[in-house]
Amino acid sequence: MVLTFSLSLQKNIMETYKCSKCGMSVNATCGKCNAPLVNDVLKLDDGREVQVSKCPNGHGKIKSPLCCGEDMSCAI
Ligand SMILES: [Zn+2]
Ligand SMILES: [Zn+2]
Repeated sequence: MVLTFSLSLQKNIMETYKCSKCGMSVNATCGKCNAPLVNDVLKLDDGREVQVSKCPNGHGKIKSPLCCGEDMSCAI
């Protein structure tokens, strides 16, 4: 029972980003500490919002991966 639970938990962590159109998922992790990136929103000067991914341990942030011309949304 314990083993089954930890396996399903691992799968949830791996599927970090998912495209809402084609269903493709991307596992985005920090290059320094290997932690799964978390979703964040960056506000631009012109008022637009950009979806970004950042390291939960403060190693920096990147723009969210694109698929089918749209930002992939975070599955967590
Ligand atoms: Zn797609
Ligand atoms: Zn990191």
